[in-house]
Amino acid sequence: MIAGEGATAPQNDALAPLVRVEALTRHFGGGGLFGGGPVVRAVDGVSLTIRRGETLGLVGESGCGKSTLGRTVLRLIEPTAGRVTIDGVEITALGARALRAFRKHAQMIFQDPYASLNPRMTVGEILEEPLIIHRLAATRDERRREVARLLERVHLRPEAQGRYPHEFSGGQRQRIGIARALAVRPRFIVADEPISALDVSIQAQVVNLLADLQAEEKLTYLFISHDLKIVEHLCDRVAVMYLGRVVEEAPASALYGRPRHPYTEALLSAVPVADPTRRRQRILLEGDVPSPSHPPPGCAFHPRCPLYAAKGRPEICRTDAPVLRPVAGVLPADGAHRAACHFAE
Ligand code: SF4
Repeated sequence: MIAGEGATAPQNDALAPLVRVEALTRHFGGGGLFGGGPVVRAVDGVSLTIRRGETLGLVGESGCGKSTLGRTVLRLIEPTAGRVTIDGVEITALGARALRAFRKHAQMIFQDPYASLNPRMTVGEILEEPLIIHRLAATRDERRREVARLLERVHLRPEAQGRYPHEFSGGQRQRIGIARALAVRPRFIVADEPISALDVSIQAQVVNLLADLQAEEKLTYLFISHDLKIVEHLCDRVAVMYLGRVVEEAPASALYGRPRHPYTEALLSAVPVADPTRRRQRILLEGDVPSPSHPPPGCAFHPRCPLYAAKGRPEICRTDAPVLRPVAGVLPADGAHRAACHFAE
């Protein structure tokens, strides 16, 4: 249980979710001179849970709201509505001071490590900063020792302390970003496309580092990525987003074994697989992702949905938004497999 202002009753149940997201919504715009501008529904009523020690993958095409959701979960972006509870603390109810104090329990790793590191600070200063802010080391010597420990955790040499971010490669800079996130000993980390800016040859090293750190530090991750191969490798469960909503959520093995939503099927059909018995027929989605300021009525996926076309364009797909519901034949013990499609079986 995390101590903090606004904390609720301790959660002793080790199986209880560490993170609970309820009907989280983030809309932008709608202002304009007369308050009539278009509303961009970047995140539109998302509910998720993440169990302790688990990695939940969040996937979808770019522009589907993944990054906005990740930032809103940590209140780096303020939600328009909804609730986020992390380890029993409702962070959406915290005041500014309590939220600042809470930041040490939940951290973010960014896509572009260079943009997120202050170029005028040495690596030692970058890693000392959170220790000072959160008063995690009493003396300068203690801070130095902690910085050396952090560098070792991410496989960087102690000499890195005196150097500046531009002196490092992309992969090394991402390690520095990871070390900075670890400095406050968080329980929960949102990793937003942490490897997509890196060379392919470096990506596996960073993914393996994240997996090792999770096991050693008992971390819980929300791992945002458009790389479905990496997500299958790293994640226990996966949520698929389309136009600000979760359209399918399942244990990774169930989702990759038998996706139930036509959008997930199309995404997975584009993933290259070496094993010929697992190859899928490529499903090409027509058109672009519609604007989140003008989502199509009914099921927002219907203008691009191959199943909608195959079923003779049923009216219900154009009129009724499908809710995320358990699919047939899946017992709760499997971890819920849910899909938002009128025809998901
Ligand atoms: Fe396709 Fe209709 Fe299912 Fe939406 S509800 S995914 S349009 S079949």
